[in-house]
Amino acid sequence: MKGCILLDRDGVLNLETGDYVFREEDFQIPSDVPEGLNRLKSAGFGLVVVTNQGGISKGLYKSEAVKNLHQILQSACGNAIDYLLYAPWHRSISASLSAKPGSLMMERGMALTDATSENSWIIGDAGRDMEAGKAAGVRTILIPTLKERESPYADFVCDNFTEAVKIILSAS
Ligand SMILES: [Mg+2]
Repeated sequence: MKGCILLDRDGVLNLETGDYVFREEDFQIPSDVPEGLNRLKSAGFGLVVVTNQGGISKGLYKSEAVKNLHQILQSACGNAIDYLLYAPWHRSISASLSAKPGSLMMERGMALTDATSENSWIIGDAGRDMEAGKAAGVRTILIPTLKERESPYADFVCDNFTEAVKIILSAS
C-alpha cells in the first residue's frame, strides 16, 4: 500500500515570512522544492498540501488568493501535487477539526490518495504540524524556520526540504 506525503506549505514549500503569505511577490519557492516533490512522486507517494489559511476567516484575503498561489506552486513543480487542501478557519474566530493541530485534513489527504497512515509522513515547520501528524498516525519531520526549533511530536528534525526527502526515501 502506498503512502502519502502531507506537506505543510508556508515554511516548507515556500519561504516563511513571519506573516500571512497571500501575495504573489511574497510567495518564494526554494529551488530544491520542485525536484524534491518530483523525487517523492517518482517513488510512488501521493502528495497533498495541508495548509492552515486562517487569514481567510480573519478577512485578510480571500480563497482566490490561496488558489492563485497554489496554481503557481503546481506550475513550478510540473503539477506533481495531487491535492491542495486548506483550512480557512482560525481558532480566534471558530473551532475547526480541519485546521492543524486538528487531524482532519491529514485524514482527508490520505483517503484521497488511497494511502495508509503507516506509510505516510508529514513535513512541517511548526509544532502544530507535528501534532496533527501524530494525531493521524503518520511519521513526522520538522524543518525549523522562524517558528519552533523542536517539537515533542517530531520524529525527525532536519534543515531543508532535500534532507526531508532523503529521510523519507531512505526509510521507505
Ligand atoms: Mg508552516
